[in-house]
Amino acid sequence: MTDDIRNLEKIKEMLLEERREILERLAKKQGAHLELLESHAKGDIADQATALEIQRIKSTLSSMERQKLQNIENALKKIEDGTYGICAECGELIDEKRLMIKPFAIYCVKCKEEKEKNGL
Ligand SMILES: [Zn+2]
Repeated sequence: MTDDIRNLEKIKEMLLEERREILERLAKKQGAHLELLESHAKGDIADQATALEIQRIKSTLSSMERQKLQNIENALKKIEDGTYGICAECGELIDEKRLMIKPFAIYCVKCKEEKEKNGL
C-alpha cells in the first residue's frame, strides 16, 4: 500500500530532517554527540551503558519534543514495515497532500475530524 505514495522518499527525508533537528538541538544542549544520538535513533547501539546514557539525555527533552520524536520514529518504522500512510482508524490510505504537510499523521482527514467532533 505504501507503494501508492508517490512522494514516499520525500516524506522520509522530511521525517529524517525533523528528527535530525530535534537531535541536533538536544546534542547542543547536552553536549552530547549527534552521531551517537542518531545511531541510537536508528537502533544501531547495542552497548547497554551507552543506550542508558542516551535515554537519560533524551529524557531532558520537553514532553512536546519527546512526543514529536516518538511520532517521527513511529512513522519511520511504518515506512520500513510498508504500512506508512494507512489510517489507524479506518485502514484507508491517508491523502498524500496531508502527509506532505503532516508527515506523521496517523489518521485520515475524515477520521481526524470525527475524533475532533467527539472531543478526542
Ligand atoms: Zn480514517
